[in-house]
Amino acid sequence: MIVLEFTKIRPDALTIWQNPEVRRRLSWYLSVLKERAPPRYKIAKAYVIEGLDPDEMSSLSLNEMLRIHRNIAPEFRDLLRRLKDDPSRTVDANSRTGGISFLEFKIWIARKLANPCILCERKCMIDREKRIGACRLDNKAYVHSAFLHLGEEAPLVPSGTIFYGGCNFTCVYCQNHDVSQEYPRNGEPVNPRELAAIQDELAVEGARNINHVGGEPTPSAHIILESMLHATHNKPQLWNSNMYMTEALMEVLLDVIDIWLPDFKYGNNNCAFRLSGITNYWETVTRNLKMASAVGDMIIRHLILPSHLECCTFKVLDYIARELPSNNILVNIMDQYRPMHLVYRYPSRWRDLSRRPLRREIIEARNKASQLGICWRPVS
Ligand code: SF4
Repeated sequence: MIVLEFTKIRPDALTIWQNPEVRRRLSWYLSVLKERAPPRYKIAKAYVIEGLDPDEMSSLSLNEMLRIHRNIAPEFRDLLRRLKDDPSRTVDANSRTGGISFLEFKIWIARKLANPCILCERKCMIDREKRIGACRLDNKAYVHSAFLHLGEEAPLVPSGTIFYGGCNFTCVYCQNHDVSQEYPRNGEPVNPRELAAIQDELAVEGARNINHVGGEPTPSAHIILESMLHATHNKPQLWNSNMYMTEALMEVLLDVIDIWLPDFKYGNNNCAFRLSGITNYWETVTRNLKMASAVGDMIIRHLILPSHLECCTFKVLDYIARELPSNNILVNIMDQYRPMHLVYRYPSRWRDLSRRPLRREIIEARNKASQLGICWRPVS
């Protein structure tokens, strides 16, 4: 049974919208919040692809599907821009007759990506119907909890947060290690219709957005996309992620996610491998951040790790300032790290992480962000 917890709104969740920088940088998200534009998943649901026969879908290869998708996406993104600029325009997902919608087409692609699984850049290629993937999941989505979360950044609160089991990272300091790494399948398995019902219920209870998080939502992406076919709410879809998806999954997600909440953890591959057990971190995550920030609003989270200012925090901030657009990004510089999970149990193995960040480290991180012109104060 999914438990919905009811909470009150935080005062700064209202006053934050008086800040012109926040309004400007989260302008698409705000349009959806104010119901001046529909959420992207609803537009994708109403957008029929001309000349594509649903009966031919099963005969298309993944590469053929991706090629067709790449032809359609620019037109669709053009439509998104027009919808944002002209609130009098509407989309009606129920008005179409026949054909296949852009959302349905994306679901076909996601199912192919999920078996053998290449949803994330681990690309372990496991048939998750038969075996457990590197994320410790079979091919179902497991929901551990769903509730109105008051602890997220002010523009997101109250956030209709859905915690999925499983993760493709193995962070030694993970604060949700029970859900992400140890008992990921202890949650409740949900099919797409049940997941849609959870979203709709969160929306009715007052959620500002539907926040897919975990663990990590990526291994459950095929179920999440299919749930959007059945969901009816008008809330923005939010992807709260380590951003280690494959390029193909990124392409599929771009047109249905209204706001991104990525963790940008490390400034180099050595720290990522040592602390989260993954390879090619920097290339993968920077590619995905570029893709998402080109089409969507974003609040990037960076957790200050003790002793990792030079190798991680400064590199991450430099990259954000140098390579990502400044018009639709806010940055949350987080100072709440404390030793958890393996670091707590075996501090001598990770001496660098076995304490909280020093006040000096936090101040240096924030000063650096200010020097680089990064907008961090409203959400940190
Ligand atoms: S999502 Fe899980 S099963 Fe799929 S490639 Fe990543 S680690 Fe492997």
